Amino acid sequence: MKGAKAVFLDLNGTLVMPISAQSLEDLVELRGVRDAVGRLTEAGFVCPVITVQSRIAKGNYSQAQFGEWFETFRSSWLSDGIPLLGPYVCPHRFHSGCRCAKPQPELYLRACHELRLDPSRCFVIGDSATDVFAARNIGARGCLVLTGNGLKDREACQQDAFVVGRDLADVVARLLERADAMQ
Ligand SMILES: [Mg+2]
Repeated sequence: MKGAKAVFLDLNGTLVMPISAQSLEDLVELRGVRDAVGRLTEAGFVCPVITVQSRIAKGNYSQAQFGEWFETFRSSWLSDGIPLLGPYVCPHRFHSGCRCAKPQPELYLRACHELRLDPSRCFVIGDSATDVFAARNIGARGCLVLTGNGLKDREACQQDAFVVGRDLADVVARLLERADAMQ
C-alpha cells in the first residue's frame, strides 16, 4: 500500500515570527498561513510541524512549556478545521552534534514512520536552506518561503528548491499547481 502524502511545515519564520523568539509569548502567527495550510489539507496532505527549538537548550523555555504553547496553537487551528500534526522537535543547541537537527532526516523519518507517510510523495516547506536540504535527504521535495530567514538563504538552496515563494500562501499555490501537473 502506498503511504500517505504530507507537507512538513517548519514553524519559526514559516508559520510564526520571530525566527528566534526569546519567549513563547513573542510568537505571532504570520498573515495568511492558516488559509494556506487549509488548502494543503483540502488537497489531501497531512501537515506535521517539524521544528528546531534551540531556545529550549538555552533555557528560555522548557520542552513542556513549548508543548503547551503548541497545543494552544494547534487547538486554535483545529477550531478552523485545520489539523496540524506533531510537533516533532529538536530541542538542542545548534551544532551540538545531535541527530535530530535539520537537515538531518531523523525527525522527518520518525514522522513518516508514525504517520505512515511515503517520503517520495512528501514536501517540506521552510524558511531555511536546512529545510530544503532535509527534504533532499529524505527523498522529498523542499520549498523555500522568503519570509523569516528565507531571503538570506535563497541563494544557498535555490538549486535544490522545488518551489520558492514570497510567503506560505505563494509557495502553497505554486506547489499545488506543480504537484498537480506531475500526477
Ligand atoms: Mg524556520
